[in-house]
Amino acid sequence: MSSSIEEKRAQIASLVKFDILTESQTADNERSIRDVSRTFISDTITVPTREMYEYAVQASIGDAVYHEPSTIALEAHMAKLTGKEAALFMPSGTMSNQIALRSHLTQPPYSVLCDYRAHINKYEAGGTAFHSGAHTVPIIPSNGHHLTLKDVKEFVVIGDDVHLAPTRVIELENTLNGSIFPQDEIIRISEFAHGKEINMHLDGARIWHVAAETGTSLEELCEPFDSVSLCFSKGLGAPIGSCLVGSHEFIKRAKWFRKLFGGGMRQTGAIAACAAYALTHNFSKLPAVHALAGKLEKGMREIGVDILGPAETCMVFYDPTPIGVDYNEIAQRAEQLPEPLKLGGSRLVVHIQTTELAIDDFLRVLRDLAKEKRAAGFIYHEPNGVVNGSGHYKDIYIRRK
Ligand SMILES: *Cc1c(COP(=O)(O)O)cnc(C)c1O
Repeated sequence: MSSSIEEKRAQIASLVKFDILTESQTADNERSIRDVSRTFISDTITVPTREMYEYAVQASIGDAVYHEPSTIALEAHMAKLTGKEAALFMPSGTMSNQIALRSHLTQPPYSVLCDYRAHINKYEAGGTAFHSGAHTVPIIPSNGHHLTLKDVKEFVVIGDDVHLAPTRVIELENTLNGSIFPQDEIIRISEFAHGKEINMHLDGARIWHVAAETGTSLEELCEPFDSVSLCFSKGLGAPIGSCLVGSHEFIKRAKWFRKLFGGGMRQTGAIAACAAYALTHNFSKLPAVHALAGKLEKGMREIGVDILGPAETCMVFYDPTPIGVDYNEIAQRAEQLPEPLKLGGSRLVVHIQTTELAIDDFLRVLRDLAKEKRAAGFIYHEPNGVVNGSGHYKDIYIRRK
């Protein structure tokens, strides 16, 4: 005898159901928070706090493809904050940049000019070619730090020569690898670009750090650009989300492309609220983050490693060759600590959940390794200021405060 429809439904329901929480979830999460406080790999790993989530559950519950009040309020705030007409909440910084480019680029042939280290050039899976069919012109800054108008003029493509793909967008990044782009140079590039009907886009995933470090308002930082992408999920510590800002007309177009890209989201109120919480509570923590990064850099200089990129904001790039060790040895030693540290290669990122103890422990690992190498006969060499292979430059420039 075949089973009743009720029995079948119950059977399916038993297959469908799923408890995602582990037996030890609360303890696991506490462990994760401790791990995050000792992880130097990125600031994307910062975790939402209980207070952030408690704030988030109070947000509105509309559908953002139609009308989601909390999300609309956040967009209005972001537009005002950046001095632009409109804003659009985005799932990620990558989508925000790609939709910005897609919205600026209308009629091929065209190209996008950027720093060769730009996120759009290196870390967006070739998205500019894929989504916009655009050629990218990546430039090595001649001063080793940031693009100048002189660099731009050397590589910009203007005119109707059929061999060429005219520059339609100049894309700058601030911070770029944690370094601050001088605003006066941005203004020079922007004035030139706008005189040639070239749009300016800023990848401002970490623009917050520039405002916090230099005391320049976000409006002033964004002013030279037609569009800006800002991330909530990096230094500000929100779980998800970025924002694209620009003119009414531009954002209307971007919203269309967001739907086309599959980024039209639904009940985003809670994640918009996490972003609002991050703006309110975490932006003000950035100066302390930069101070910790400064302490890290100072300690590393004293130990004698080569500083490839100093701590202008939240990152330090280094090369340990002068003390006779490599990144793997350091990472292994750091893993073996009673409370391990997580490290990548040359880049160390300090974030709002990094503890001072983690910095001290890292410096002790370096100091111990240096001492052991000396005891084993390694001869210390002065950092030599040569460009290394990782795509980052030695500090041939002076730290701005
Ligand atoms: C992280 C990052 C992005 C992309 O953000 P996702 O949310 O990870 O897609 C874009 N630009 C810069 C400079 C970034 O650091």
